[in-house]
Amino acid sequence: MISSKTSFIGLIGNPISHSLSPIMQNAALEFLGLDLIYIAIPCKKEDLNLVINSLKKINCKGLNITIPYKEKVFELCDEISPIARKLKAINTLKLDSNNKWSATNTDVEGFIYPLKSIHINKKHAMVLGSGGAARSVIQGLINLNFKKITIISRNQKSLNLLTNNFDNSNVIQGYLYGDSQVTSLIKETDLIVNATPVGMSVTDNEEMPYGNNFWKPLTPNTIIYDLIYNPSPTKLLKFCSNKGCLTIDGMQMLIAQGIKSLAFWTDGLEVPFEVMDNALKKYMKSK
Ligand code: NAP
Repeated sequence: MISSKTSFIGLIGNPISHSLSPIMQNAALEFLGLDLIYIAIPCKKEDLNLVINSLKKINCKGLNITIPYKEKVFELCDEISPIARKLKAINTLKLDSNNKWSATNTDVEGFIYPLKSIHINKKHAMVLGSGGAARSVIQGLINLNFKKITIISRNQKSLNLLTNNFDNSNVIQGYLYGDSQVTSLIKETDLIVNATPVGMSVTDNEEMPYGNNFWKPLTPNTIIYDLIYNPSPTKLLKFCSNKGCLTIDGMQMLIAQGIKSLAFWTDGLEVPFEVMDNALKKYMKSK
């Protein structure tokens, strides 16, 4: 029951009306029996500083930060974890005992979660896109000891920035998507991760990243991990599943990063994966 003592955790972004985080986080907070609710707080760019600073003064215990503010909130935080600094992105804030924002990033742990239980032979991966999510994906692949990580992008500038962000230059290589070597790279890779928004319901969900021809060399031995969770499956995952590939959608990452954020806000409380998963399945079925 919401009472006059209830406090809240907020999600700051723009747009956020499509977010599934309130569904899964409120189910988790109820499961834990905490007097806390989770609400989406749409915020315009020009209001970001005012909103984040004002939330310190009311009953807010923590925040999730999403697109387009994961980099912009750095200057508003007092303590920032090494992983958030490395990724140059923050997705979780909590108020410390001195009423200051302490920040971290849980996307890497979220990304790794579904891969932990899968055997991957050569540990060669290909990452599509060179934006914020690709950064977390690459860090996750490094943590999982991948031997070769190929980034395919349409954007030379962000590709250079991304490859230079990691010290592992012998492991990471970047290519533009039209490069002649891409065909042979697709044939020999164990895992392809789509970290572009192509296929999302808010973009053109009838598209495949880099177009249909890009996917012709794909063999059934490759695992395809699409970070997109809505729609599920995406056109890409349907195509790859029909080819015989093992496919993973973005839902497990969403839930796993959410579990880690909740643990950060509550000083270590963990909720079973199924609690958030069941809440999301029920919600999706009702839509
Ligand atoms: P971002 O920072 O905007 O980066 C997107 C990347 O995709 C950029 O490299 C961009 O290239 C590229 N791109 C955009 N449109 C493209 C197109 N039509 N063809 C080829 N490349 C294109 O976004 P992000 O934060 O990395 O997010 C990427 C995706 O991951 C989104 O769909 C997001 O929802 C998903 N995601 C899921 C989770 C989860 O928990 N499951 C977590 C984080 C992100 P340009 O720079 O040239 O535009």
